Amino acid sequence: MRLQDQVCIITGAGSGIGQTTAILFAAEGASVIVNDLDEAKGEETVRQIEANGGTALFIRADVTKPDEVKAMTEQSIARFGRIDVLFNNAGISGVGMLHEIEPDFWDRIMSINIKGVYLPSKYVIPHMMERRKGVVIQMSSCVAEIGLARRASYAATKGAVLALTKSMQVDYAPYGIRVNALLPGTILTPFVEGYLRQSYDDPAAGLDSIRGRQLSEELGRPEDVARAALFLASDDSKFMMGSPLYIDGGVVFG
Ligand code: NAD
Repeated sequence: MRLQDQVCIITGAGSGIGQTTAILFAAEGASVIVNDLDEAKGEETVRQIEANGGTALFIRADVTKPDEVKAMTEQSIARFGRIDVLFNNAGISGVGMLHEIEPDFWDRIMSINIKGVYLPSKYVIPHMMERRKGVVIQMSSCVAEIGLARRASYAATKGAVLALTKSMQVDYAPYGIRVNALLPGTILTPFVEGYLRQSYDDPAAGLDSIRGRQLSEELGRPEDVARAALFLASDDSKFMMGSPLYIDGGVVFG
């Protein structure tokens, strides 16, 4: 059990990568705070964890709302006594060239994908600083490092998350806190299925185009990212600080 007795908050854990990671962390002995905007989806994650004999608590909070994130942090500490791991996973995708997207959408994606990393960090990290111990995992993306058509607004947010990760690591290393980032390629989740529906008449052509960007013939699955998150959450990665971890089938280096 690589996370025995650890307390982990995962934002956006009602679906996709966050849900799979919550289930894996709980199976590895963690008590998991399942955060999501969507109550039905978050409760389903908790149901699956409890069905496996694990421990989880759903807390509905919008990661862009300071009061809700502060309350989630306080409720987590009240219930479990501490927070060992914060996984800033919640995010939305955005497709379109800059001239095609509307200002409201720009504000929304910046808010969820960047402010949604800032706020949980702002409220959880002081608690970790007091304990002089903690792990923060940030959800960036390989588009932080490569150009990908029609993804400019999304890429800007994930580049910001990677930059945040490095500066946060410098600031919080003296407090025993590690901050690392995950950079997945395309992972088959509801998020990507939505993108494929938006972008391709024939979803099979979309899958072929994803494979064409990779070195691997396989398509990325939520489990691939969840296992990388487990590595970053555990002491197995204790010498990793401020690092990007690629889970992309060779997109960045291909
Ligand atoms: P998903 O859409 O399946 O899940 C995201 C979850 O976040 C949803 O349950 C949603 O309700 C929740 N959420 C959205 N806004 C929220 C908010 N304001 N507050 C709280 N919860 C909120 O997506 P996914 O594919 O699992 O993606 C998870 C993360 O991984 C995102 O940050 C995404 O950018 C990143 N990512 C995904 C891929 C991919 O190919 N799927 C690749 C690289 C990075």
